[in-house]
Amino acid sequence: MIEAAVLTIGDELVSGEIIDTNSAIIASSLQKAGVAVRKCLTVGDESAEIAGTLEQLISNYRIIIVSGGLGPTGDDITREATARACGRKLKYNDESAARIEKLFSRRNIKFTDNNFRQAYFPEGAEILDNERGTAPGFKCQQDNTAIYVLPGVPDEMETMLTEKVMPDILKLNSDVKPLIQKKYQVIGLGEAELEDKIKKIISNNTGVYFSFLPRGGVIEIKLTCSPEKEELLSRAERELERKLDSYIFGRGDETLTGKIGEMLKNSSRTIATAESITGGLLGKRLTDRAGSSEFFAGGVISYSRESKIKLLGVPRELLASRGEVDSEVAKLMACGVRELLAADIGLAVTGYAGPEAVDNNVGLVFGGLAVEGRHSSARWNLAGDRKRIRWLTAQFAFNLVRKYLLEEIT
Ligand code: ATP
Ligand code: MG
Repeated sequence: MIEAAVLTIGDELVSGEIIDTNSAIIASSLQKAGVAVRKCLTVGDESAEIAGTLEQLISNYRIIIVSGGLGPTGDDITREATARACGRKLKYNDESAARIEKLFSRRNIKFTDNNFRQAYFPEGAEILDNERGTAPGFKCQQDNTAIYVLPGVPDEMETMLTEKVMPDILKLNSDVKPLIQKKYQVIGLGEAELEDKIKKIISNNTGVYFSFLPRGGVIEIKLTCSPEKEELLSRAERELERKLDSYIFGRGDETLTGKIGEMLKNSSRTIATAESITGGLLGKRLTDRAGSSEFFAGGVISYSRESKIKLLGVPRELLASRGEVDSEVAKLMACGVRELLAADIGLAVTGYAGPEAVDNNVGLVFGGLAVEGRHSSARWNLAGDRKRIRWLTAQFAFNLVRKYLLEEIT
């Protein structure tokens, strides 16, 4: 994606006298056209400041749109500062001077020498006529960067932006090749934790864009770059994979259940589920894809206490003393269903989905995992409404299975 920066100029902007509406208009026009605006800056009417800022922007962005300071008065120094930043001289343009003069006489305004200032442009600049005002804009192509300089008066700026600048940029954009994009699916980390873990990778790989999309317990990390940065992307991928390791469960659009299914199939293992809180969601999700009978032995929706006792063999006394939502109960449910269906792995969940719960324990959930010779449990405190808690329960339960298989298979 072409990257752009917006630079607005004027003392009245930095002093807070007027609100910088030009930036917003320019930035949104660019975004709509598919140009990524990375920076919007404002500087006062100070030539060295403007030139210095522009120089920095030139080395970082392919498109820079500048507005303000093109008028005829002494504080209008944008043309001079732009020339400085580009290492060019200001050159008088006869044609433009004649045009300005004509405009003045038509409007019956006294033309002063000052006005000729507006006929100076950086050498090699392309002049952009201003149909609404006297100050013409211009475009400087500096190495790989196109700098468009527009007047500050909002309606003049906007007219020139839509009539001159955007069509020019769109022409530029049409030869932009499709972006390269890589996606990772991550589980077991919160958003802040994840960002903290990989912030160095992000800052070491400028040119690759990282975005995070949290979705029901899973975070999708998207890496995007332009085709010429492909090598950088590969490097970022390697670093990311090393850092996040088994937090990454999938690439592209891979799903958690898809991944587990594949792992179970590859290791020739079967799984059985005992569901309290999820009421069938585990089984439903495991069977979303065709071919799951290869690894899914079946499940029990053991929602009531009696069903936990009768179908899974959880001792009545245990349930009486510790209640349904308990780590030991989760373990025994997993063992029970594993035995009942003669599966390699038993997976169980029990918890409070809300909205009401004993002792205000909404979101308290236990997962149980039983395999040959051992069983374990996990405790989660989940937040959200009933639907979300049930969904997250399934996610984390599946992740238990994934982690077990990872240890076993690799
Ligand atoms: P002029 O020929 O009028 O001097 P110019 O290009 O020099 O045009 P400025 O002097 O920077 O433009 O600004 C002219 C007026 O336009 C300002 O007084 C202000 O009201 C408005 N203006 C300038 N910049 C902005 C901005 N970024 N956002 C909103 N309004 C602006
Ligand atoms: Mg001015």
